[in-house]
Amino acid sequence: METLAQLKKYSAELVDLHHVLALMQWDQEVRMPRRAAEGRAGQFATLSGLVHRREVAPELGALLVEAGAQKERLSVEDQALLRVMRRSYNQNTRLPEEFVAEFSRLASQAQMAWLEAREQADFGIFQPLLERLVELSRQQAEYLGYAAHPYDALLDLHEEGLTTVQVEEMFGELQAPLVGLVKKFAGRLAPLSFGEPFALSGQERFAEHLLMAMGFDFNRGCLARSPHPFTTTLGHHDRRITNRYAPKSLDFIFGALHEGGHALYEQGIDERLARSHLDDGVSLGIHESQSRFWENVVGRSHPFWQRFFPELQQAFPAQFAHTGLDDFVRGINAVTPGLIRVDADEVTYNLHVLIRFEIEKGLIEGSLEVGALPRVWREKYRQYLGVEVESDADGVLQDIHWAHGSFGYFPTYTIGNLASAQIWGAYKQYDPGFGQTLAAGNLTKVREWLAREIHGHGSVYLPQELLTRVTGAPLSAQPFLAYLEEKFSSLVA
Ligand code: ZN
Repeated sequence: METLAQLKKYSAELVDLHHVLALMQWDQEVRMPRRAAEGRAGQFATLSGLVHRREVAPELGALLVEAGAQKERLSVEDQALLRVMRRSYNQNTRLPEEFVAEFSRLASQAQMAWLEAREQADFGIFQPLLERLVELSRQQAEYLGYAAHPYDALLDLHEEGLTTVQVEEMFGELQAPLVGLVKKFAGRLAPLSFGEPFALSGQERFAEHLLMAMGFDFNRGCLARSPHPFTTTLGHHDRRITNRYAPKSLDFIFGALHEGGHALYEQGIDERLARSHLDDGVSLGIHESQSRFWENVVGRSHPFWQRFFPELQQAFPAQFAHTGLDDFVRGINAVTPGLIRVDADEVTYNLHVLIRFEIEKGLIEGSLEVGALPRVWREKYRQYLGVEVESDADGVLQDIHWAHGSFGYFPTYTIGNLASAQIWGAYKQYDPGFGQTLAAGNLTKVREWLAREIHGHGSVYLPQELLTRVTGAPLSAQPFLAYLEEKFSSLVA
């Protein structure tokens, strides 16, 4: 069999295996009975061990070298397949097996310690494990290799090609204007509050309704409940999402729009890329641009709610019968500097990410000690957001990422936010009547454009390349800042 055909077969098998692992994970978070936990952990260890062996096999290495020698003759898509497979092969082979095993053992201990530390608001319980995880992450950077800064290696794991200098430039452009926007808009929009709880079944029905309106294909995916909402892929025609429902929160709406945005990306990938490494969103940042696009740019806009607010009122009369559309839209956009990243509004959100980036960079380059984190966290929240951290549970212990051993992940959230505004700019050029499009509930028009411009390509283009193709420019903070200025000025007017 010729090299390329062999490589494609290899890709299909690995993708199948990863989808089976994803099915086990989905089941674990959605349906698995409590006592199955230990057995499932064993199944994971066995199957991921087998998958890993396939992923580092010399046979695959040889195929990649052979295919690389014929690169000039390959199509754009086949070159991309080679790029993605080679990248994953390098990541898998550069980390020694004992290192990977130690890392994952430590990460699972760290997650337990993190849970306990958070419950007791005692950073000391988590500190020794975090110290070890930082040490291993620095070692991981050495194994993976980098050109300028060890943190580059960790950023690249989540966003191909991203460097520390690029993230510094991004926040350099953002920081001062964001602090100015917070000053300008904080406290000027009244938040919503609810006396009556929302019936859980009604929440789920409404979430389904919104997903249907967005064009989520329920024949190629489903909606389930889980404590932390997520999106996963079990096959080309099987893209699943979960959502959560709390009695007095609008998370059911924004969680559905957010995960729906991730899922539309996956459902929109061209079928000819099925069962290959290209049948996936290209990076976390671009993925997040899609979820934030639907959650914020569309889902917190006035025209969107012109169409859907009457239905929300009908579904929940006790909560909304006496609320006007304008007050509702102001309420879901209230700017309030706070302690918790996941509750942050669009204006303050990226300052939460900036704080985490500065801390991670310091930890990985060795200029910051883990023991100093609670103090540094408090200082930075005071300085950037003007809020006082009373308890480490609402401070340095709030996110699970570091307990997973994930460093370099947070900046992709900001990339997603910036890219979503930039993509919105490109959409508005295509559809100058976008306000009427949303107000008419014609979300199909929006989804089809996204599918054509972004989703369909899967992982064929590098993240920056894709963004430049779609918007005519590389990632920049300016469209996002302009979007905030325009949107919030009109909301407070
Ligand atoms: Zn997301």
